Amino acid sequence: MTDTSMTVLEKHAAEPGMRLAERPVPTPGADEVRIAVRSVGIDGGVEAPFYRWDDYYHRYEPHLPQVFGHEFAGVVDAVGSDVVDWAGGERVAVEPRYSCGRCRNCREGRQNLCTEEPGFSPHGRKAVGIDVDTPGALAEYVVVPARNLYELPAGVTFDEGVFLELLAIGVHAIEASAFEVGDRVAITGPGSAGLSALLAAREAGASEIVIVGADADEGTRLPIAAEMGATATRNASEGALNRPVDVFVEASGHESALRLAEASTRPGGEIAQVGVFHDERVPVGLTGLLNEEVSIETVNGRRQSDWRRTLALAADLDLSRVVGPAFDMADYEAGFAAEAERAGVKVVLNP
Ligand SMILES: [Zn+2]
Repeated sequence: MTDTSMTVLEKHAAEPGMRLAERPVPTPGADEVRIAVRSVGIDGGVEAPFYRWDDYYHRYEPHLPQVFGHEFAGVVDAVGSDVVDWAGGERVAVEPRYSCGRCRNCREGRQNLCTEEPGFSPHGRKAVGIDVDTPGALAEYVVVPARNLYELPAGVTFDEGVFLELLAIGVHAIEASAFEVGDRVAITGPGSAGLSALLAAREAGASEIVIVGADADEGTRLPIAAEMGATATRNASEGALNRPVDVFVEASGHESALRLAEASTRPGGEIAQVGVFHDERVPVGLTGLLNEEVSIETVNGRRQSDWRRTLALAADLDLSRVVGPAFDMADYEAGFAAEAERAGVKVVLNP
């Protein structure tokens, strides 16, 4: 790049793929900062289907070309005139979701539920590179609100920093649930969110953590889950757990997994729904849950408190098992191919 232009990876046309392009380096507004992006994740539920151009994402066609990328870490490169908390040079992770800072939810630390920043898709909220027309982090530089920054703990690499917003979802699921020390936990979906919930449950003092995966997870993510502290792993095809758990974290977004959770949570227990469904309505066996006083907690994004807990945990956690492989952004085709082949847990690109 030159001082005034940068390389981005953009979705340019309503067809599979993305392409490298040159764009002007963005200038931060008064309350914004510019981040020199060091690492950006490929989300199997966002950037990957946009890359494939799945039907569900065709609603973005009027907004192309668009630069996606919302899970990222980097260095503060320039700050706006009103920014007082950042000087430049800090290593940071970034909360991708925009928030107003003024609405009731924001003022209560629940900026994940800001009511003033709706996106342009159903249930969408504006986030960096998603549901918004401003460019995301698949770029050498990105501009974000200063309020969205969190300093990386010493020893946490930029690639690992990509994972912190995901870890914070797992922390949110465990912390907001009825979980108590010594509880038994089951988790469906050993992807980024599910493995984050595993780490959070382990750190919070779970006595048992059962990870349930699909056929594609055998030999890949289930062994990783075992290395990360799962006390048992199993295939969803084995059906309901023999011994129901206290807290069931459903992190796959598949209706069949919710059925499994309903059948595997003890009377009086709780299901934490973290996985995102693509269907507008998902059947719930409310009569059975009512009879057993099983509650469902829904988890969406991260609150201020989840970031605080996550940063405290991350300083001492080994996240190397869940991050990588890493590719230069110029090798994005290999990166997206690795994601499609489920290589590792969180494939990252380095701009
Ligand atoms: Zn707000």
